[in-house]
Amino acid sequence: MYAIPFLDIPPLRSAAGRVRLPGSKSISNRVLLLAGLAAGTTAVHDLLDSDDTRVMLAALEALGCGLRRDGAVLHVTGIGGALPVKQARLFLGNAGTAMRPLTAALAMLATLQGGEFELSGVPRMHERPIGDLVDALRQLGCPVQYLGNAGYPPLRVGHGRAAPVSTHEPVRVRGDVSSQFLTALLLALPLATADRAITIAVEGELISKPYIDITLNLLARFGIVVERDPADPWASFTLPRGSQYRSPGAIHVEADASSASYFVALGALAGTEAPVRIEGVGLDSIQGDIRFVDAARAMGARVEGGAGWLEVRRGAWPLKAITLDCNHIPDAAMTLAVMGLYADGTTRLTNIASWRVKETDRIAAMAAELRKMGGTVVEGPDFIEVTPPASPAHWRAGVIHTYDDHRMAMCLSLAAFNALAGATPPRPVRILDPQCVAKTFPDYFEALFGLATVAEADIPVIAIDGPTASGKGTLASEVARRLGYALLDSGALYRATALAVQQAGVDPSDAAAVAFLAARLDLRFDAGRAFLAGQDVTDALRLEETGSLASRISVHSAVRHALHGLQLDFRRLPGLVADGRDMGTVVFPGAPLKVFLTASVETRATRRHNQLISRGIPANIDSLLADLRARDERDQNRAVAPLKPAEDAVLLDNSGMSIDEGVEAVLEAWNKRRM
Ligand code: C5P
Repeated sequence: MYAIPFLDIPPLRSAAGRVRLPGSKSISNRVLLLAGLAAGTTAVHDLLDSDDTRVMLAALEALGCGLRRDGAVLHVTGIGGALPVKQARLFLGNAGTAMRPLTAALAMLATLQGGEFELSGVPRMHERPIGDLVDALRQLGCPVQYLGNAGYPPLRVGHGRAAPVSTHEPVRVRGDVSSQFLTALLLALPLATADRAITIAVEGELISKPYIDITLNLLARFGIVVERDPADPWASFTLPRGSQYRSPGAIHVEADASSASYFVALGALAGTEAPVRIEGVGLDSIQGDIRFVDAARAMGARVEGGAGWLEVRRGAWPLKAITLDCNHIPDAAMTLAVMGLYADGTTRLTNIASWRVKETDRIAAMAAELRKMGGTVVEGPDFIEVTPPASPAHWRAGVIHTYDDHRMAMCLSLAAFNALAGATPPRPVRILDPQCVAKTFPDYFEALFGLATVAEADIPVIAIDGPTASGKGTLASEVARRLGYALLDSGALYRATALAVQQAGVDPSDAAAVAFLAARLDLRFDAGRAFLAGQDVTDALRLEETGSLASRISVHSAVRHALHGLQLDFRRLPGLVADGRDMGTVVFPGAPLKVFLTASVETRATRRHNQLISRGIPANIDSLLADLRARDERDQNRAVAPLKPAEDAVLLDNSGMSIDEGVEAVLEAWNKRRM
């Protein structure tokens, strides 16, 4: 997959509509591990498809679990407590939800059954602490060795010889760094309960309790009931003797409540009387982050909800600044920090030390990026304070670093609503490495753009005009791909009209008849193919004779008029690359970047010749030359929308350039204009 280097979000103005959220990462990876350890097959519905779950799936497969996809359902056949594979090296990317529980489960299995496993990840994973979990596993007598720095992955668990796990004493684990260590032990320790019950004693104040609730809830679904002291339910957890994972047969993964926070915020910032409706997670959620809803309400959001749904409208505006202990909503609280840019004072979020050991140091990252937008931020070891820009004029256009942290990207996208806070002029937001959202929400930006509205004129257009065979098509589609923009191949509309003219047997010089067909063009693009009235015309569109006929009918102003609205419809978030003859002069005269691409007629004839030959179509260079000259002549001298560079166009002669050089030249011109 090509990595899109940045995504420019134009000023967003309002939001309404419906969004269905992807499955929760925390639930997905816990369910996968439990299904992988259990006996029997579990049908997992609504599993999140993301970097983190892919890493977990690859690990389970390497460990000998059976995986079978059946449409949207994944069938996982577990190992039933016995290791079929006793040695493996697992690469776990930056997925904490895979690293911690797999370390614990494999340490247990390797020790009891004589295995040996190595677990590693990306460099950032090797900076995320795991020492407290390793200490707990060593108390149980599990051999765990650091392969890099002490206290951090990569790790080796087991040494190939079977040995008992010592479960007489309670195993002690710190609860005040990351609740993932406790989760890892809770998920893995049933493996060691053959002889007696085992108790986990938590040291220090347990953070992120709601994530432990998710773990306990899912363990129960897999037949494991954890005993707790009602007087002090967070101090110790006992796994009864003979605990066995039992597959529930089928299980549904709830949508991610942390992901819901961005859309709750969207409603709070930009909702109208028509709400932002969120589906897949609701007020009945087992995820602690659902309590973000209370915090959003405290800041002024109007939220209604039920089982599996939420609806959000704007209430107080500006939002109300709050002071909140966020220990119970560590991930979703990041969204509050960005909402703080739109509040009536200083928002103070406390008890968030865990932010410092997540995908990145989220306190430092959030502080740096909110400042770029013009906010005033004070950070401390375990708190952050956000004050909005001092006045509407203090907002800035931000180039936002995302630190390979999906939540940074999603949170900061909300800064694009600054027009609603009066920012003058409204400031665009550039999100670097936008695809990092794939960790939990691969289609986040599509979902955002599906709900948000913009002023039409704010949707950026790059117009690329030029004569036939100048390489516009290739250049435009590559630029669009690199920017994540929509693509308009306006020539295809003229060509499709030409095909319709042919099929209907209409006289190409009869302007009214051709325009009639153009106005009713039933043209659809799908996965790189073009369909005219349901028929695949991808190849027919490319024929030279279709191009020639297109050039003849395109001289009629009625035809151009008929195709005008259709072309404007391609202008969509986050932006459009439009290629043709009159994109910069007539169709998108306000385009912030216009490129006029040329190459000598000889170069173009040679390119077209090679193109045809490579497709197995016979071609003659002289007749191609003559044809191109005739077409240039007609396109340049027609009365309506003649081919000529817009006054403010960048002229680019690509005769001596490779495709890549052309693309780089356009992107460079674009970067200069945008930020
Ligand atoms: O770009 P392409 O070669 O596919 O376009 C086919 C013909 O359609 C051109 O020769 C030109 O006459 C006409 N056209 C146009 N205006 C556009 C795009 C194409 O007149 N914006």
